[in-house]
Amino acid sequence: MMKVLFSWLPDADDERLNDFFLCLDLASHRNECDALKKTVASIRERCLSQDLQQLSIIEKELPFSQHAFLESSKGYSSVTINTRWLNEYQEYMSANQARMVHFSHEQYHYYEQCLPAMFYYSNEKRIKRRILAEAGAKLYSQYEAGLPYYPSLYDFAIGLKQKNYTEHELTQYLEEKYHAIYHESSRKENEFGGQSAGEFH
Ligand SMILES: [Zn+2]
Repeated sequence: MMKVLFSWLPDADDERLNDFFLCLDLASHRNECDALKKTVASIRERCLSQDLQQLSIIEKELPFSQHAFLESSKGYSSVTINTRWLNEYQEYMSANQARMVHFSHEQYHYYEQCLPAMFYYSNEKRIKRRILAEAGAKLYSQYEAGLPYYPSLYDFAIGLKQKNYTEHELTQYLEEKYHAIYHESSRKENEFGGQSAGEFH
């Protein structure tokens, strides 16, 4: 299943793939990629494991589309994880990694609430902030769970398995996005005399 996600891009290494899927999420804010990566790295460094104690984990079955959510009231915070998604993710990773990728995604949002000064985008407008927050949470959860791939790759693989789209449709979609992201941006850079091409050519 994962193979389909790579087949359209020959000679892709993991880093390129991960960057591409991160750029897909960042859309028009993909120039923030490096700043976001740095922020995520510094949060991982500074947020110690003792923070885990402030967040309890509840696992239960929820409507399928929902992965997990964070709830906070009266100084008590919890993360509820959808067991349906845990089961789906376990096809591609260990049970503990499936739990960690969901938990740490919400943990990242929890840190955004408690420690906004650590997040360089916390004063951005709502839409931009949401886009950066979601991509940051995915990146953070990938690292915390020790996964080789950005979480979107697993979501696409699961979408294929659930027949939300065909392999052909997905491949076509990814190829189009790839060209839109890398070829159009390199053309613009050439037009304006900046650095051309980048590492994806
Ligand atoms: Zn989120």
